[in-house]
Amino acid sequence: CGIVGYVGKQSALDVVVAGLRRLEYRGYDSAGVALVADGKLVTRKRAGKLANLEAALAESPLPASTTGMGHTRWATHGAPNDRNAHPHLDDTGSVAVIHNGIIENFAALRSELESRGHELVSETDTEVVAHLVAEEWSALEEAGAPDLAEALRRTCRRLHGAFTLVLTHASAPGVVVAARRNSPLVVGRGDGENFLASDVAAFIAHTRHAIEVADSQVVELRADRITVTDFDGEEVTPKEFEVTWDA
Ligand code: GLU
Repeated sequence: CGIVGYVGKQSALDVVVAGLRRLEYRGYDSAGVALVADGKLVTRKRAGKLANLEAALAESPLPASTTGMGHTRWATHGAPNDRNAHPHLDDTGSVAVIHNGIIENFAALRSELESRGHELVSETDTEVVAHLVAEEWSALEEAGAPDLAEALRRTCRRLHGAFTLVLTHASAPGVVVAARRNSPLVVGRGDGENFLASDVAAFIAHTRHAIEVADSQVVELRADRITVTDFDGEEVTPKEFEVTWDA
């Protein structure tokens, strides 16, 4: 339901949780975050209000990080519980994904992944994406060119339905990638820091320079660079605009 991603110089957790707070009015049943810290992916997720997630974070704090993402879920597939909350990880805990929308062919993809030995642990339509991206990453890594945006593009071409997807990888510090099809995604350009979200409201406290992501495009967000391509990897020049209203 609500999505926030950040790469920069501030505490990613603080930026992400404050952003999710700005999107709370949309309603949600669970919340979660993922950070890349010291070559590891760390996550926390809880059913219920953001306050539950914040209590879990206070009890067992995550390491400091400047790369992260967060999600508030409005369940469509799978009960609203801790396990089905986003982020979802692949078997090895290297890839984390958050998702708005519905992956319509998830059941077929899930059987296919299970037949290759993947173990899926949630009831969501979302989790297949983490496993598919992990497979694509491995193939790219074996070819000597690990690339999270390319792994996501290859995965998107296999997905049916509407989605905003945001991913982080343990071996890709300083990178957050995202894709959209028939579901909202907007990028905020900062100074040595960049943002993405399902709604500009999540980042206008930090920047009003926004970048429109069109349908069927993938964004690679770094602290000092924003790259937008179509699902085939062709780079596009996105439209930039100033947010002049109070979201
Ligand atoms: N379909 C996904 C789920 O049920 C995402 C729901 C959402 O848009 O928050 O987990």
